[in-house]
Amino acid sequence: MKASEIRSKWLEFFEEKGHTIEPSASLVPHNDPTLLWINAGMAPLKPYFDGRVKPENPRIANSQKCIRTNDIENVGKTRRHHTFFEMLGNFSIGDYFKEEIITWAWEFLTSPKWIGFDPERLSVTVYPEDEEAYRYWNEKIGLPAERIIKLEDNFWDIGEGPCGPCTEIFYDRGEAYGNDMSDPEMYPGGENERYLEVWNLVFSQFNHNKDGSYTPLPNKNIDTGAGLERFASILQDVNSNFDTDLFQPMIQKTAAMAGVKYNEDLEKDIALKVIADHIRTVTFAVGDGVLPSNEGRGYVIRRLLRRAVRYGKMLGLDRPFMYDLVETVGDVMGGYYPEVVDKRDFIVKVIKTEEERFHETLSDGLAILAEISERAQAAGQTVISGADAFKLYDTYGFPFDLTEDYASEHGLTVDREGFDQAMQEQRDRARAARQDNGSMKIQGGALSELTVKSEFVGYNDLVTESKVL
Ligand code: ATP
Ligand code: MG
Ligand code: MG
Ligand code: MG
Repeated sequence: MKASEIRSKWLEFFEEKGHTIEPSASLVPHNDPTLLWINAGMAPLKPYFDGRVKPENPRIANSQKCIRTNDIENVGKTRRHHTFFEMLGNFSIGDYFKEEIITWAWEFLTSPKWIGFDPERLSVTVYPEDEEAYRYWNEKIGLPAERIIKLEDNFWDIGEGPCGPCTEIFYDRGEAYGNDMSDPEMYPGGENERYLEVWNLVFSQFNHNKDGSYTPLPNKNIDTGAGLERFASILQDVNSNFDTDLFQPMIQKTAAMAGVKYNEDLEKDIALKVIADHIRTVTFAVGDGVLPSNEGRGYVIRRLLRRAVRYGKMLGLDRPFMYDLVETVGDVMGGYYPEVVDKRDFIVKVIKTEEERFHETLSDGLAILAEISERAQAAGQTVISGADAFKLYDTYGFPFDLTEDYASEHGLTVDREGFDQAMQEQRDRARAARQDNGSMKIQGGALSELTVKSEFVGYNDLVTESKVL
């Protein structure tokens, strides 16, 4: 089953159950300073959940574009995580509750009319005190006790406001995905990928009060989210999300450009997956009006793009190539998200310009490094000073780990401590300057609403560091 068909089935199913289908909202949150990106299907619907706005129909379903930068380190390593993904959702604003959604979830997942999973492969987790949910799964659905796992973590609570227990649904991908049941992580809800989490049903039934107490909500809500890419990996019977029709066109195109093959070498596969992931994120973000910059969302986009360029280099792609994948993203996604086709020329231009700039940065940096290392060698030294490495990084935007790579290729080392010290001194200076300056304070206030550090921390450790992404 194609991913586009799964998406349509979801919407059709919930439409049949009386839901209004809402189009995906922009990735850029509207009037919500607590969020940098829309990261769940419920996020753009918050005004309904907290009662600010009353929806015409209390039953809503959608397929929502999401960005989760906290998953960046997982991308390409796990089978199931992306920085950009589509969350299929259905929502009840004070209307139906646990019994209906548990019954419908089961129907959607197991009925051959919908996606027809083998019921024997499904298990769920529940919140230990949520006897109601347990009862519906066990008595109404007939799920045996050993496939209903009680998990303390299954409580959705982000501080003050509506909160409540959740129940998550897992699909057993089989022993080929790991079978050591003595491993504490090897159960639904553990960090393994044999039991693939596909769907989270949240029952928001309490209010988390200012004083820390919990009181029942007069209107109980349902908020669910399921990963389209994960459904697709199961229904297409492939090894990971990256092997589905949502990712393969970008992966195959990148492999062809680089003259490599997918599925032959682990490191190359990771690079291909990261590139396919990041081009989706960047294409959609630019399509929603985010431009590469040194702060906030723009900084995330710049880093993702540069990170992908670095992975491209590992594949031997030494020229701008990401912009060439935008068309492919449009071909795959344009059916439901016309913006990536309508704005294609603009997106291509933004990405190409940014890639060219980064390549210039890299070649300027390499030329300067060559001088520095010649000087060091002529003087009989084997170390590139922290001050030099910092200048490269700070003035020329040249990543620290590339300086290290270059040094080791030339029989040199880099003074990391000196580099860190120079970085710290610069931060202290920047802080002092901010305190002096009234207008910067106001700007600082606006920027502090962003949940990502807006301070420019540079491009060191692009591959491993997760301070910002
Ligand atoms: P996981 O434990 O696998 O990281 P999660 O518990 O963080 O997932 P939820 O916040 O419950 O995920 O989101 C609801 C659903 O959205 C998940 O069940 C999954 O299908 C999907 N999902 C969540 N994060 C990602 C991601 N980074 N990439 C792809 N799909 C995701
Ligand atoms: Mg997660
Ligand atoms: Mg989870
Ligand atoms: Mg979850």
